[in-house]
Amino acid sequence: MGSNPTSSAFVVDVTTLRTRAGRLPYRGPVDDEQAMELALAEARVALDHGDVPIGAVAIVDGEVVASRHNERETAGDPTAHAEILVLRDAASVLGTWRLSAVTVVSTLEPCPMCAGALIVARVGKLVYGAADPKAGACGSLYQLCADPRLNHELPVTAGVLADEAGGLLARFFAGRR
Ligand code: ZN
Repeated sequence: MGSNPTSSAFVVDVTTLRTRAGRLPYRGPVDDEQAMELALAEARVALDHGDVPIGAVAIVDGEVVASRHNERETAGDPTAHAEILVLRDAASVLGTWRLSAVTVVSTLEPCPMCAGALIVARVGKLVYGAADPKAGACGSLYQLCADPRLNHELPVTAGVLADEAGGLLARFFAGRR
């Protein structure tokens, strides 16, 4: 993975984290910003296989229980968004589909599919970095996480390290032109 451009002393070994996923790989507690730094580190791993750099981590009581990145290209799977993958891992780690204890931290505002997955998983909280004006379903185009017609709502914190997350995406797309 590339160097971490952030100035924080918080250091994450993403390789170790991923290989140890399922065994509470990083002992917390981490706050929203530290969790986002981890999600950003995870997002950079997606660059290794040409995927759009989006990362997500799942947190329970400040501890990271799962960390994944977008694998749509490498997996050839249209649903392999970072948030979907991290929900699957978190459910496996916790032994339940009901993830009300989980905070999902994503570098990009979730799309309608991922926001729907957060709702059906009963996720407790969402934190995201950059807004997505073209596909965002948690504040930009839709407010799926706060729609009383659905059977679950969850609080959303937007804009955490948004410049870093947005910059990572902007550099990726600029490099492809
Ligand atoms: Zn998505």
